[in-house]
This record gives sequence, C-alpha cells and structure tokens, in this order.
Amino acid sequence: MPSNDGLLAVARSFRVLVIGGSYGGLSAALNLWDLSRGRLPRFNYAYDGPAPAHRIPIQTTIVDERDGYYHLIGTPKSLACEKLAAESWTRFQDIPALKSPDFKIIQGSVSSVDCATKVAHILDTATNSTITESYDYLIVASGLRRGYPTVPRSLRRDDYLEEARKHTENVRNARGVVVIGGGAVGVEMAAELKMLEPQQKVTLIHSRDRLLSSEPLPDDFAERAYSILQQGGVAVILGQRVMDTTAVDVEGDQRMWRLTLGDGRQITTGHVLSAISRCIPTSTYLPPQTLNEDGYVKVQPSRLQFSADIPNAEHHYAVGDLAAWPGIKRCGGAMHMGHYAAMNIHQQMMAECSGGKPTLKTLNPFPAVIGLALGTKAVSYTPDEGTKHGEELLASLFGEDMGNSNSPVML
Ligand SMILES: Cc1cc2nc3c(=O)[nH]c(=O)nc-3n(C[C@H](O)[C@H](O)[C@H](O)COP(=O)(O)OP(=O)(O)OC[C@H]3O[C@@H](n4cnc5c(N)ncnc54)[C@H](O)[C@@H]3O)c2cc1C
Repeated sequence: MPSNDGLLAVARSFRVLVIGGSYGGLSAALNLWDLSRGRLPRFNYAYDGPAPAHRIPIQTTIVDERDGYYHLIGTPKSLACEKLAAESWTRFQDIPALKSPDFKIIQGSVSSVDCATKVAHILDTATNSTITESYDYLIVASGLRRGYPTVPRSLRRDDYLEEARKHTENVRNARGVVVIGGGAVGVEMAAELKMLEPQQKVTLIHSRDRLLSSEPLPDDFAERAYSILQQGGVAVILGQRVMDTTAVDVEGDQRMWRLTLGDGRQITTGHVLSAISRCIPTSTYLPPQTLNEDGYVKVQPSRLQFSADIPNAEHHYAVGDLAAWPGIKRCGGAMHMGHYAAMNIHQQMMAECSGGKPTLKTLNPFPAVIGLALGTKAVSYTPDEGTKHGEELLASLFGEDMGNSNSPVML
C-alpha cells in the first residue's frame, strides 16, 4: 500500500552499523540511505534500474574515532595550511544528511565485534565507557592506521585546527625542512610545502634510486614526479637511507637536526618530517579468521561480503582500504566500494522482506590509477592514458580544495 510519498511499505526495519565515517563508510551509509528512501543512490554511476519503489526503514549508526569526516587525501597540504585545514574537517553534526533522525553518530573506537550475535563493543569517547551496539548489517570501513604527519594526531576538529596551526608554524619558521620517504605521501608533502612556503629550503630524501618505488607504476610517471619536484625547487636526494637523526646545538631558540645518510653525508636542518610510517589495518576488533595474514578483511571477490566461514557472513561487509582488494588504495576506490556495498545490502534487505533472491553487483578489480597533487601541478597515471601532468590536470583532479567537494558528504 503506497504511503504519502508514493512509496510502498515493507514489513520490517533494519539496523545498520558502519565502523569508520570516512570515504568508504559514508559512501555506503549515504548511498544506502538514498536507496531506502526510494531515490537513486548519489553515486549513481553503475545503477541500472529505476529508483526503488519501496521505503525501507533503516536506522544507521556510524562509529568513528574522530568527531567528523576528515578529508584525508589533502593532508600533505592541509596540515601546513590553516585555511585548507578548516575546510578539510567537517564535524558529523554539521553534515546536513546526517542530521536526519535515521542516523546516530557515536564518537568512539570499536574494540570487538561478535558476528554470531551481531553485536559490536565500542569504547565511547563521550563517557569513556564500553557500550554495545546491535546490528542487522555491519559495514567495516575503518581503513589503515597511519602515523603523524601522514595523518593528523587529533581526533577532534578543534584540536586538529590547533595541530595544523602549530605544524604550519613549525615548517614556516624552521631553518630548512627535510621530508624522509619518496612514496606518494612524501612526494606530495615536499611539493606542497615548497609551494606554501617558497622561501623554505625543502629536501626530499628517498632510499631507492627511483621515487614512488613501491607503487606498481611506470618509470615515466616517477620521472615526471621527480622533474616537477625539481622545477618547483625541492632538492631531491635519491638512493640514500637516513641512518641517524641527532638533535644538535640550539641556534637562538631553534633546535636543529643532523641527519647522517648512508654514504656518510651529513645534512643539518630545522625540521624533519617522516613520510615512511607503515600502514597497519585497523581490523583488530574483528575475529582473526575473517582476516588474511596481513590483517585485511577477506571479502567475496565480487560482493564485498566477508568470505570467512563465520556465522552471518552475508550480513558483514568490508569496504575501502581495510578490504583485501588488489590495486592501489584510493579514496575513489573506497567510495566506489561503499556504493556497491549499499546496493548489495539494499538488494538483500528487499529480498528479506519479499522472500525473493537478491541480485548482487559485481565489483571489478581496480586498474592501477593514481593522481598526485604536486604544488601547482598534478601528475596522473591511468592504463588508458598513461602519464599526464600539468596545471590544468591539477584543477580537474583536485579543484580548489584538494578534491574535498567530490567526497560523499559534499554530494
Ligand atoms: C596523505 C595521503 C594522501 C592520499 N592521497 C590520495 C589521493 O590523492 N587520491 C586517492 O584516491 N587516495 C589518496 N590516498 C589514499 C586514501 O586516503 C585512502 O585510500 C582512503 O582514505 C581510504 O578510505 P577509507 O574510508 O577506507 O578509510 P579512511 O579514510 O582511513 O577512514 C577510516 C575511518 O575509520 C576510523 N576508524 C579507524 N579505526 C576505528 C575504530 N576502531 N573504531 C571506529 N572508527 C575507526 C578513522 O577515524 C577514519 O575516520 C591518500 C592517503 C594518504 C594517507
């Protein structure tokens, strides 16, 4: 029987728990919300049917250690730019869609999940006590743990703004900045710092003879990144490991650091930023049998449901960086996975209500695609177009705000 909005009612409601309120988690939550209200999902790139005819009552709980959505990919720039920092962190309470009573937000850290009873245990930041949250469907999207300054330390927006202010001050006032590690993060960090603080001497040190050496990318991409850095005024040292970092005599009120490289060379600098922190999956709250040997969640190849032999596996989904999925980890991939998980969960819910069979979407492997923001230029690689670079590319890939306006909360 149609309701006032013309949608058909279903016989039951569902509780969805999303762990991680960033690219993957918010994409899943918001696309599912759209579908549950008879709308096409906001990431309507692969949905090939009409808008759903039924309204499904869904109560979605989002748990995150942070108090808001943080635009992680802008970090190399936003930590050193107070204006961008302010735009990069949106408290969940300030996100229009999440103001609906259909959403509940918990700031906290999930400590364990019982897949058999479908209950998650959460250390609630507000009360500093453990609470439990029951669910019908679980979406894990808590990504990888990364260290400062690859990501900020703060978990609250106010603290983050203060952290960015101090970071900016430190890099601005230092007598030289050295970035250690020429992977994607280090390369972006060095280029963005040099653009923001042109008077600053910025040096990038990488242990291998080629930048971006651990990415499955062609040499001409790495060479282009190298030449853009050099043109931008970053001093690049390749093939040298930093063997030792020692604090040296204070000059005025500033501490200096002496770095010793593998070939014995010594570099003295005012500030050192390490971009070589290991990324560790945040999956410790899940049963071990759901994880592969590296801690990533094993998923069905096409559907993103847990693939381990556990109770209710079909009601558990993993999206984003935490899923054991080949290819370069990207926010676009995380949002795409969230969209697919939303469509598959919606199909499952409809099947549970109608007794039919769900039609589940198949996710294809991701091609090796990357885009880096390097100051005033970007460099990108796709298998179809190869390596591209330039100022226009920066505008089309990252816009004015490091791509924040393309994120799920902004659509
Ligand atoms: C510096 C940097 C630059 C990048 N640049 C690009 C780029 O230009 N383009 C691109 O496509 N990709 C880029 N990436 C990769 C991209 O950021 C990731 O692929 C993307 O963030 C993955 O999204 P996610 O939702 O899976 O996880 P995340 O974005 O990591 O979000 C996970 C969320 O889960 C929360 N969380 C973690 N543990 C728990 C817990 N136990 N309980 C509750 N909440 C928890 C975290 O607070 C966080 O909000 C970059 C990454 C970094 C670090």
